[in-house]
Amino acid sequence: MPSFDVTIIGALGGPQEGDTQCLMVRPYGYQGLGSICLDAGAGLTSIIHILADCKKYKYQDSELFKLKSISSFYNNDYEPAWKFFNPDSPIGFGFPQEMRDILLSKNLGQIQKEGLAVFQGINEYYITHSHLDHICGMVTNSPSAFEKHFPSRKSIFGLNSTIQSLKRNIFNDEIWPDLTMGNKGGIILNELHAYVPQHSKIFENFEIIPLPVCHGKAVNPPNQIVFSTLYLFKNLATNDCILIGGDMQSDNLDSNNGPNHEEADNNNVSYTNKIKNGQVTIDYLQKAWEYVVENVPLINLKGIFIECSSSMDVNKSHLYGHMSPIFLINELKNFVNLYKQRWNLSEPPDLDLDVVIMHVKMSYSEIDPRLKILDEIKTLAAEKGIKKTRFSMALKGFTFSL
Ligand SMILES: [Zn+2]
Ligand SMILES: [Zn+2]
Repeated sequence: MPSFDVTIIGALGGPQEGDTQCLMVRPYGYQGLGSICLDAGAGLTSIIHILADCKKYKYQDSELFKLKSISSFYNNDYEPAWKFFNPDSPIGFGFPQEMRDILLSKNLGQIQKEGLAVFQGINEYYITHSHLDHICGMVTNSPSAFEKHFPSRKSIFGLNSTIQSLKRNIFNDEIWPDLTMGNKGGIILNELHAYVPQHSKIFENFEIIPLPVCHGKAVNPPNQIVFSTLYLFKNLATNDCILIGGDMQSDNLDSNNGPNHEEADNNNVSYTNKIKNGQVTIDYLQKAWEYVVENVPLINLKGIFIECSSSMDVNKSHLYGHMSPIFLINELKNFVNLYKQRWNLSEPPDLDLDVVIMHVKMSYSEIDPRLKILDEIKTLAAEKGIKKTRFSMALKGFTFSL
């Protein structure tokens, strides 16, 4: 039986606005409207559109959903959904059945009211980093915390770098009103510590562990590392886990963080320090993989939601702290090799799980970049001996039951 329902509220990495990264996570089959969101690039509008889409296409429970048309507007205006998914992946269209049943029983009558009911069920946000494409939904939606007929306070969690940035740059009464009101308002900002499990208040069986990763370097000062987060979700009822990441680059691209870097957390974690070209480097992603290998038996890892922003057409010097198919596949190879080394296996184990690609940049291209990237990933995986992994693309409005 699966352990998680993950509904894609926003899937992309820009530059088009409105459908950027936001994933709703719940225990599989949860009987309630409560939920956690990982990032918040999209929000209430997307939820309403997903509900409206479900109402329009009444076939969400059947396999026919795979024929649903997905907006593309490249060489075809619409593409069938099945092109974006592995045929063996456990994917359904719309919100989980239990959530839809509860909405129906409430007899709210309007999609607007249903959307608000789903949105107000989001009580915890785990933010990977403070870039706009990961927070803009939550910020714009934040006055809803004070909704007269249906108030709901939102707890926002993130590493020190994320939370301090939200305080300093967003909820500062300039860019946006300070709806935190010293953490007595509708928005409550909470700092997490790297590698320290956080127990969810909504889902008692959920433990969430933030693993800092590198998202490239700042423009100014040029050597300052930009931090992001890979979150490990553990369902204590089943011991199953999923990984969901924000923007990140491979340590192999360029992990040289220079002398002026700022730590992503204020916890004294000892990272792997190396000297490259005379400067100290820290392999954050390597440390994150090592943590997972040490703490999660591979059989319990049910899925990895990871970014792959650009296709192989993009030069590595233009990735700006992101993944491309070759870096992603090399990281997955590295990950299974770490399992082999740590557990003294004769061969690297099969990565027999779902890898869901997120945060594709919808840039100028003949072919839909999502299909191009998925194709490149599948080709590279076959070449590099990653055989059992089910690769799919994250699409708004679909739920992965893992
Ligand atoms: Zn992003
Ligand atoms: Zn970013």
